[in-house]
Order: sequence, then C-alpha cells, then structure tokens
Amino acid sequence: MKKIVVTGAGGFIGGHLVKVLEKEGHKVRAVDIKPLNEWYQISNGADNLVLDLRLRDNCVRAVNGNNEVFNLAADMGGMGFIEKNKAVCMLSVLINTHLLVASRDCGIERFFYASSACVYNAEKQTDPANPGLKESDAYPALAEDGYGWEKLFSERMCRHFSEDFGLITRVARFHNVYGPYGTYDGGREKAPAAVCRKVIEAGITGNKEIVIWGDGRQTRSFTYIDDCIKGIRDIMDSNIEEPLNLGSSEIVSINGLVDIVEDIAGYKLKRIYDLNAPKGVRGRNSDNNLIKKYLGWEPSISLRKGMKKTYEWISRQLIEENKNRKGISRFNK
Ligand code: NAD
Repeated sequence: MKKIVVTGAGGFIGGHLVKVLEKEGHKVRAVDIKPLNEWYQISNGADNLVLDLRLRDNCVRAVNGNNEVFNLAADMGGMGFIEKNKAVCMLSVLINTHLLVASRDCGIERFFYASSACVYNAEKQTDPANPGLKESDAYPALAEDGYGWEKLFSERMCRHFSEDFGLITRVARFHNVYGPYGTYDGGREKAPAAVCRKVIEAGITGNKEIVIWGDGRQTRSFTYIDDCIKGIRDIMDSNIEEPLNLGSSEIVSINGLVDIVEDIAGYKLKRIYDLNAPKGVRGRNSDNNLIKKYLGWEPSISLRKGMKKTYEWISRQLIEENKNRKGISRFNK
C-alpha cells in the first residue's frame, strides 16, 4: 500500500484514477481547485482537498507525506477552449513546476505527468491518413500553440528534474480520452462527448440536424477511459524514462464518428458543416509501437463499444438534467 496524490482529481481522468487506486488498496489524497460539489466523481475514502496548485505552498501541502504523485491538473478543454485560451492553458505550467519542486523537496518517490498528443509537430499532422505519430515526432518542436507548448515544456521539466535531482518521473502523451464522467457541455468538451450530446439533443428536440466543426474529414483516434487508466498505471510503475504515447490507433474521421453515434442512436441527422469553427490539425493518430514493445499495452476497447457506453451515460445525464429543471427544458430554449 502506498500513499498517493492525484491532482486534477475532480476532473475526468483524475476521478477515474482515484477510484482505481483506492480499489488497489492505496491511501489516496485527491486534489482539485474546484469546489467539492463540482467534482465529477468523489471517493469518500480519499482525503479530498480543494487547493489551487498554481501556488507553491499549496503544492507542498498537497504532496507532503506521500510516496507518489500523479499530476493530472490542468486548465484545459477541447479545441474550442484551447484555441481561444492560449495564455490560460500556458499558466498550467505553474502547477507542474511547483508540484515538481514540492515533490523533490518532500522526497516523493515517483511523479507522473499527463502530457498530450498536442505536443506533436503540426507539420506531421497535415494528412488525414496519418499513419500514427511516433514519440520522436515531437521534435523539431512545433506544438499546438499555447496548450501544446506548455505540455512540451513541462515534459522537459520532468526529464531535467530526473537528471538533475534524481526524482523519478514518468510521462504519458494522452490521445483524446473519452468515456463516462467526462465533460460533455459548457465549451470544454471534446469531439466524442460533443457529438454524443448533439445527437441526443437532436433526438429529444426533434430538430434532426447536427452542426459539425470543419468539413468532418479531419481525423483523430480516441482512447476509452479504462484503457487510459490501465496505461497510466503501467507507465507509472515501469522503468521507461521517455514520454510514451497512450492512445488508440483506430483512426476515424469526424464524419465517421458521427456515423457511429447515429448508429447507436438509431437515427440519421442532416449535417451542417461550420467551416469557421475551431478544427485543429487535419490528421492525428497514435503510433503505439513503443508502448507495445516496452509494456505490452494496447487498447482493448473498440471505438464503437466505448462510444456506446459514453452515449448511454451522457443520455442519462441529459434526461436527469431535464427532469431537475422542473419542466423548463434546456432543449426548448
Ligand atoms: P479535466 O479538465 O476533466 O481535469 C483537469 C482538472 O484539473 C479539473 O478538474 C480542474 O479543475 C483541475 N485544475 C485546473 N487547474 C487547477 C489548479 N490550479 N489547481 C488544482 N486543480 C486544477 O481534464 P482531463 O480530461 O481529466 O485531463 C487530465 C489531464 O490529462 C490534463 O493534464 C490534460 O491536459 C491531460 N490530457 C487530457 C486529454 C483528454 O483527452 N482528456 C488529452 C491529452 C491530455
């Protein structure tokens, strides 16, 4: 049994990670800036702390007396958020920097950093038939402006804290993680949740249209949350010092993603393409050769299966929200 800190625990991936670590029998401290009633999941067995981790003293308070730190805290969202909040995204550098310093000073044994596919060079992502981004494709650096540069810089901070101070650090580059208990509205949601919500809302309102950002031919790969959590655990416990892709290589266009969700819903919608909306790179996919070779990790949940679970969860949330509004439907606005 270890004493483990999870930051960003009130968010999507952090909330799932806390649950798994508790099941494994660890003593978990869960930390997030959001008030507790806004956390996506709460584990009553954990030591739940509300702290702004951009401040160094709060980082010391968060990590002191623990063995390991998983840093999943960041001010982030989907394309719609990161394209319009570049400075805000870059300020997350304060979180990782102060957490690394506090971890070094408090004798933390292992430190995990949640990086992103947004570190990859934009010029390697112009083809929708992207064969998969290799870890080496992050350099020469031309990361996603704002958010991606912060991730790349923080990755390197981890590396140099290992080299200079002997702090063991592990880095995963997540590729679009999705699943239940994630953000599905409000502007920070990512494509899988956004498409599910739009299709469900169209079904409820009877307005059988869907607005798609871009021409729908841009491609991505999406990782189901359970596969991501398993990968995080494997990477943290491994002896691999370099950043590793943690993603699926099942590439799909946004149109293809809408096809899947329409199929789950059982109806088709008229597609309206918003060519002025944020759309990100043209083609992104994960090359999983390294993580497969080092750790034998591969995603086990197909996009279709993961999207069905996600769709069903979002559907329940929307129905519940609608009921709670006591007849004033969000869908009739
Ligand atoms: P999320 O937004 O659901 O969770 C992040 C949490 O960090 C939020 O609950 C937020 O309140 C918290 N946070 C923000 N600023 C903070 C601060 N100053 N102090 C304490 N907590 C703070 O996002 P997520 O999807 O769970 O992502 C977790 C991590 O994985 C992030 O670092 C993110 O950049 C990275 N990542 C996620 C994806 C993905 O597809 N979800 C892809 C690539 C990288």
